[in-house]
Amino acid sequence: MTKILGDKKIVKINNEISIGENPVIIAGPCSVESEESLNKTVSMLKEVGVDILRGGAFKPRTSPYTFQGLGEEGLKILYKVGKSFNLPIISELMDEKYLGIFLKYVDIIQIGSRNMYNYPLLKTVGQTDKPILLKRGMSATIYEWSMAAEYIASYGNSNIILCERGIRSYDNYTRNTLDLAAVPIMKKETGLPIIVDPSHGTGRRELIEPMSKAALACGADGIMVEVHHNPDEALSDSEQTIGIDMYKKLFANIGR
Ligand code: PEP
Ligand code: MN
Repeated sequence: MTKILGDKKIVKINNEISIGENPVIIAGPCSVESEESLNKTVSMLKEVGVDILRGGAFKPRTSPYTFQGLGEEGLKILYKVGKSFNLPIISELMDEKYLGIFLKYVDIIQIGSRNMYNYPLLKTVGQTDKPILLKRGMSATIYEWSMAAEYIASYGNSNIILCERGIRSYDNYTRNTLDLAAVPIMKKETGLPIIVDPSHGTGRRELIEPMSKAALACGADGIMVEVHHNPDEALSDSEQTIGIDMYKKLFANIGR
């Protein structure tokens, strides 16, 4: 299926974290809301344990009338808070015109589900040497997702981490259907490390822990979860965001 990808790959983040060896935990709010709020969440996460900090600054929201993220200011806040807690950061790039600030501020560039098919954007990040987290398109087949990764690699960057975040199905009980079979399949087809995002994958707080355990059991190289110091008040994705008590339990129960 793939031409370049296929051999097992470990992606190094700042020469400190190796994704593809021991499972990693990426956690943080859906959106960066303010420096004060992010500091609160991250100080709690740090007490429990976390490897990489997530936070959206440019948000791909379904409705144009909902919170769109703080943009460049949000990215700077994420950078500052990441530095002060000594955590690498990941955030979503939606528009090539912001590539410069992403190269400067973030450790991992996230390509979101909606942009998995954005071939110009894939080519652009393929010409950098930043680690790229490539989310699965919400209705992408295994072949389409593999080829999106191959686009990035074919332009020179094979520092790619895949992220299964659920696909659309006929049932809306959960926000998406988390396709865990994709984990061993994509590892075999691409050799790339793969992270599972049970937050967008289910849309429901109570499912984060069981699906995280399942993800690691089937060979995922880590999980990415949305956490907020006050999840009910989170400005985006509050129903799927866990608070610090649930995060503590999750951390203890996934055996790290
Ligand atoms: C996110 O992780 O912030 C996000 C928007 O996820 P997705 O692209 O999977 O919808
Ligand atoms: Mn979200």
